[in-house]
Amino acid sequence: MKIAVLPGDGIGKEVTAQAVKVLKAVLGNAAEFTEAPIGGEGVKAAGVPLPRATLELARRSDAILFGAVGGPGDESGPRHLRPGLGLLTLRRELGLFANFRPAFLFPELIGASSLKPELVEGLDLIILRELNGDIYYGEPRGIMVNAEGKREGVNTMRYSEFEIERIAHMAFRTARDRRRKVCSVDKANVLETMQLWRETVAGVGKGYPDVELTHLFVDAASMQLLRAPKQFDVVVTPNMFGDILSDAAAMLTGSIGMLPSASIGDGNKGLYEPVHGSAPDIEGRNLANPLAAILSAAMLLRFSFGRKDDAARIERAVRAVLAGGLRTADISQPGMKSVGTVEMGEAVVAALGRV
Ligand code: NAD
Repeated sequence: MKIAVLPGDGIGKEVTAQAVKVLKAVLGNAAEFTEAPIGGEGVKAAGVPLPRATLELARRSDAILFGAVGGPGDESGPRHLRPGLGLLTLRRELGLFANFRPAFLFPELIGASSLKPELVEGLDLIILRELNGDIYYGEPRGIMVNAEGKREGVNTMRYSEFEIERIAHMAFRTARDRRRKVCSVDKANVLETMQLWRETVAGVGKGYPDVELTHLFVDAASMQLLRAPKQFDVVVTPNMFGDILSDAAAMLTGSIGMLPSASIGDGNKGLYEPVHGSAPDIEGRNLANPLAAILSAAMLLRFSFGRKDDAARIERAVRAVLAGGLRTADISQPGMKSVGTVEMGEAVVAALGRV
């Protein structure tokens, strides 16, 4: 089992270190871990956010454990040096088009959710975000000078029918293993690209008559997510809407530090990362919640290696630690014991022996 470890920047490094500890405790010598720089660390090491050696390592690995990239002031630098480009290029180069973001509320964290307990009790939904298309990759793009000599920003929302079909199939297949409901989110009332999205998802849906398909405009979807999130099972969305909706969903689970993700393509190779960013505001202070990264490691075992029992064991260990009253600052609750990133990671490792 070859696992590439790409910690990236900021708290990416801190939380990934804890996830690797957990994986090593579960896998022993069965896995080989190789670390490489990406993002701002890639720029420091090799002058680009995705160094060639990092991409090659990712290509020859079975799975990639990723932290986060980015830092203050990135948005004003030249585009080709932006840390986030390293991740976008990696996802595209590896054909990882389907990003699973499970918003699952551990019962122990019900008091940490941003919504009232009765609205989130038992919350278990998946945001399935398309990851290789949309405005993030569409051309033309850039900041140009128009005919009047004024600057103009341009990005292009673009989806091919093929790209929509493959993510739609993934959504319906996923729903078949769950509660058999797919909600497709778009903005078909305003954007032609989204009209094609809706028509195509509806077409694919005809092949899955046992799965209920609904459609929502993204504005209505964000409202429903905060009003009655338990109505959702699998939410399939284009790249940009998924980016935004999943951060909102994270708050329902208690913290952005609780939301893991898996990005997969046609094969077993996958990239596993917490949904959060590099959090420069808490970097280097042992404050980051490592559970999203640790739960991403569980997804790695399940998706890339079919080790469902090991994945479930990690999830049970996380639950045991939460039930034992340990909390990082982002999920702190009265009467619970505050711990740092490292202590939380070590507590999960220790709990593996008990669950
Ligand atoms: P962020 O997710 O880094 O942080 C948002 C807020 O959540 C901050 O207050 C932060 O302290 C908190 N937070 C995030 N993760 C946490 C954790 N594990 N435990 C406790 N608190 C946590 O988003 P941002 O501040 O908008 O972005 C910071 C940088 O990260 C930017 O450079 C951005 O581009 C980048 N980013 C990267 C990714 C990625 O690599 N996948 C995703 C989002 C943002």
